[in-house]
This record gives sequence, structure tokens and C-alpha cells, in this order.
Amino acid sequence: MERNGTVKILLVEDEKGVAHFIRKGLEEEHYDIDLAVDGEEGLSLAAKNQYDLMILDVMLPGMNGIELCRQIRQKDIQSPIMMLTARDSVRDKVQGLESGADDYLTKPFSFEEFLARVHALLRRKQDKLTELVFKELKVDTIGHRVYVAGNEVQLRPKEYALLLYLLKNKGNAVSRPEILAHVWGYDFNPNTNFVDVHIKSLRVKLGQFSKTNFIQSIRGVGYMIGA
Ligand code: CA
Repeated sequence: MERNGTVKILLVEDEKGVAHFIRKGLEEEHYDIDLAVDGEEGLSLAAKNQYDLMILDVMLPGMNGIELCRQIRQKDIQSPIMMLTARDSVRDKVQGLESGADDYLTKPFSFEEFLARVHALLRRKQDKLTELVFKELKVDTIGHRVYVAGNEVQLRPKEYALLLYLLKNKGNAVSRPEILAHVWGYDFNPNTNFVDVHIKSLRVKLGQFSKTNFIQSIRGVGYMIGA
């Protein structure tokens, strides 16, 4: 399985050249990138999707990156945030960090340095989240391995991504459109039965080693792991 296959990064950058440079480089590293070109679009994507990392340019049309960062944190979204700016002033840096950013990079930068910082921020996040556990179910998110009652379960990539998404939202029901958007990542027809088909196969595979019903169907909403 692709190691970076489920790592999602939000990039908010209005300058086409910079956005292209970052996006192309990160896609070559097999990260999934969503691009927003202004703060409002960035905020709505940040609220809608779960990102492993958000990269915000400070100078944006409308809401600037510092305000965007502040609003993201106000929504209690904890993903690591890296700020980018053309200005190299201490005041900007302090403002950026005070608004809740984790790192700050001044343009122009080399892709090499940028990528090293991306890795550091993702690693910091992963350290907190290397193992997701629910009852007899355990997922090693670095090795991409899934265990039920100590037995390894072989999942296909989409089944794994779906399970991870449900576990990351443990205790909250997620809808089919949310699952489709996060796991398949395109504007799929909401009437497609991909989600149900994959839920069914996941239940069969997880059920090999436990009688626990890990994935609950929530009528009128979707699916949920946890009470
Ligand atoms: Ca800009």
C-alpha cells in the first residue's frame, strides 16, 4: 500500500505559480492535495474535510492567512498548520504563531526545505496518532496494518482508508457523501453504492476474528464506529 496514500493536505495559495510548484512537488510525494485560492474557500474546505496538514499563504485576497488560521483554530480543528509569507518580519511571524500556526516559512524557499518541514509536521502529528484502537480492533497507521484480537486482517486500500476515516471520527456518525469525498476524493454521484459495498466487505473481514459489530449503521445518517 502507498505509504502516503491517505495523507491529505490543504493548500491555500492565490499565486498560481507558487501553488503549482508546491502542488506538483507534493503530488510527486504521493500526498493528496486540495487547493483553495482564497481564505473563504480555504475555511470551508478545512471545515468540511479532515486534513493531515494545512499550508496557508499569509497574503490572500479577502481574509488573509493569519485570520484564516485563527478561524480554523476557533472551529477546534487541530491539524498542523504551516504559514507561508513573502514578508520576513518578526511581527508577521509572531502574529502567525499566535494565531495557532505550528510553523512558518518565508518565500522564496527551496522545495527541499519545504518538504523537510512538511515531513516534520506530519511526523509530529503521527506520533500522537500512530495507533488507533477500538475494542479488539487496532490500526497501526504508520505500518498500515489492521489487527482484530491480535490477528492481522488484510484490507484493500479503499477498505483501509474507509476504516481509518471511521476510526478518526470515532463516536461521530459520518454520512455517505462525507465518506465518498474523503475516501474516494472526487465528486462521486451520491447514489453510488461504493460506500455500502466497502462497509459490507469490511464487516466481513473484521468479523473473521470477533463477534463485535465494529461499524454501526446509523439510520438516515451513515456509519459510525464507537458508541
Ligand atoms: Ca499570496
